[in-house]
Amino acid sequence: MAGQAVVTRAAAALPGVGPAMWQRLALLGIEQPADLLLHLPLRYEDRSQLSSIASLRDGQHALVRGQVEATELTQRRRRALLVSLADSSGSVTLRFFHFRPSQVQQFQPGAWLECYGEVRLGPMGLEMVHPEYRLLRGGASEPLPPAALTPVYPTTAGLTQASLRRLVGLALDRCGQHLPELLPPGLRAAEQISDLATALHGLHQPAADALLDERPSALHRLALEELLAHHLSLRRRRQQRQTRRAPVIRASGALRHRLLEALPFALTGAQKRVIGEVLADLARPHPMLRLLQGDVGSGKTLVAAAVALQAAEAGWQTAIMAPTELLAEQHFRNFCRWLPPLGLDPLWLAGRHTGRARAAILADIASGRAPLVVGTHALFQEEVQFARLGLVIIDEQHRFGVHQRLALRAKGDDGAQAPHQLIMTATPIPRSLAMTFYADLDTSTIDELPPGRTPVHTLAVPRRRKDELLTAIATTCAQGQQAYWVCPLIDESEALALSAASATAEELAATLPQLRVGLLHGRMKSREKETVMAAFLSNELQLLVATTVIEVGVDVPNATLMVIDHAERLGLAQLHQLRGRVGRGSADSRCVLLYQPPLSGEARARLAAMRETNDGFEIARRDLDLRGPGELLGTRQTGAVNLRVADLERDRSLLPRLPHLAGLLEREAPAMVPRLIDRWLGRGLDYGEV
Ligand code: ADP
Ligand code: MG
Repeated sequence: MAGQAVVTRAAAALPGVGPAMWQRLALLGIEQPADLLLHLPLRYEDRSQLSSIASLRDGQHALVRGQVEATELTQRRRRALLVSLADSSGSVTLRFFHFRPSQVQQFQPGAWLECYGEVRLGPMGLEMVHPEYRLLRGGASEPLPPAALTPVYPTTAGLTQASLRRLVGLALDRCGQHLPELLPPGLRAAEQISDLATALHGLHQPAADALLDERPSALHRLALEELLAHHLSLRRRRQQRQTRRAPVIRASGALRHRLLEALPFALTGAQKRVIGEVLADLARPHPMLRLLQGDVGSGKTLVAAAVALQAAEAGWQTAIMAPTELLAEQHFRNFCRWLPPLGLDPLWLAGRHTGRARAAILADIASGRAPLVVGTHALFQEEVQFARLGLVIIDEQHRFGVHQRLALRAKGDDGAQAPHQLIMTATPIPRSLAMTFYADLDTSTIDELPPGRTPVHTLAVPRRRKDELLTAIATTCAQGQQAYWVCPLIDESEALALSAASATAEELAATLPQLRVGLLHGRMKSREKETVMAAFLSNELQLLVATTVIEVGVDVPNATLMVIDHAERLGLAQLHQLRGRVGRGSADSRCVLLYQPPLSGEARARLAAMRETNDGFEIARRDLDLRGPGELLGTRQTGAVNLRVADLERDRSLLPRLPHLAGLLEREAPAMVPRLIDRWLGRGLDYGEV
């Protein structure tokens, strides 16, 4: 329920609408006249045509006029008032379940009524249940209602369409006062969009012939304004970040150079470039918030190590967060290879570290002795206190949603100073989305794979030919290479996936007795998982049957064959991630997508995309085409982007315009920027409050 103050303020703002009505409106989230104006119709009813009663059909919405022939109160099953209405062509029954005695009085035989409603086939022929009606005191000659297209609003019990229409009409009368125009005329002219008042009138009170051509442009105008407000708010976040302090991390780079010299390979040009971009940010006194996009296998871990060394050399600690313990451990193993020769000891904080061991690790973090700490999100628990946290690196498995991003922002921030943040993702965000919904952060892209990688040869095979794969697996392993067999989630259930995986593992072990087969799944304790992974890494296990837990980051270059069972159930990004587990060495690799026919159109398109390209950026573009921006941003699940009018699907073509328009607005009408943000995000999710 709206607070009393809100209701009183609203009542004052719209004369003629009292507090009781505002209480009811609050149930719809309407707390002020502006909200009424943005409460858009679900659909429109065409009341421009008067139907003859004889022409009515079941299911039709119709406007009729006629004279009351008779009324009757029935008690059968449910009390109802029945009114028989007739015109020269025939008669129809009006049925009311709720009615006042005064209504019964109105329906005197001979009275003229105009009714609008849905026609249904009832027990006694066609009827209209609770039609909207008005008494025609002037009889059949009264003019038709002026608004020929009637809006139908989302509503709630006790609030009729007629009263909503009246209230919106009142708000529309002072439209400019309740929702003043905030977009400058120059911008409107350049974008060829109407002014706000025209758009709102067009949506709430469209002319009869407006439906096809004017409504889209009116919606377009509102959607553009809303998307622009979201984009502006992210840009403002970014500008605000520039006013915050962060440690200035500057060093000679000696440690980094020593690491790179010790590697058996040279950095790719792209790795060098992004390291440079990150180092430039670290040297600035404001917190970095940078997204590092790089396809699977593009060498992001090394970038993380290189920049962490810069921080270490400058005397700052780095926290590296991985999405799972398995991955944290793998990072830890990498850092244990790279750092100790430089005289630095990385630390790993895992759930299994308890008691004394944990206390010792925490003490090393708190004293600042630990230059680099790896862990999962648990690193951000209260008990973990860093002495000098300078850099946070987040290795994300999937696209990093607005929501998560915001949740992390506050972490490690002691008020005076915030650490720098680098977010690494293997799932690139298509450019148009990145520009609009990631406008608060900077992006770096590794667009080049280390040399010598051969693209993974991908094929799709129906499940009935599963047995043919056994030979492929046997040959691969006989050559000293290794294979994965992935069983995805079945009906979203890890338990079922697990049973499918264990059954498959048993079956494969029985049919291929010469092979050493292992099983990896999400229900295993992390120590068990590590044992299995270590055995696979050392080629003690040749075939690893797994649920999708291996999706992220597992790095075994000797594995050259991957079978993905029920590939039709997985999304493109996930398939691409899984495939990234092979093709990590120099040998040719294959990925077999086993599918269960018949395929849906979308599944077919996904498998085709996988066969046709190995490029993560291309995959991301196809994914955007297949699933649309809402899915991609994760907004359907999390509601992270709260859009009132705009629809990312429908209004997708607007996205590329936003950066330009936002810049224009910031330059030419800066006073409008906070007002726009407040209008559209004021009560919803503020990107800063999460
Ligand atoms: P991702 O970006 O998927 O996290 P990794 O960092 O795991 O990729 O790197 C994948 C593999 O490529 C690792 O074995 C890593 O040592 C190796 N690698 C990284 N950079 C290079 C490079 N410049 N040349 C050759 N191999 C590299
Ligand atoms: Mg990785």
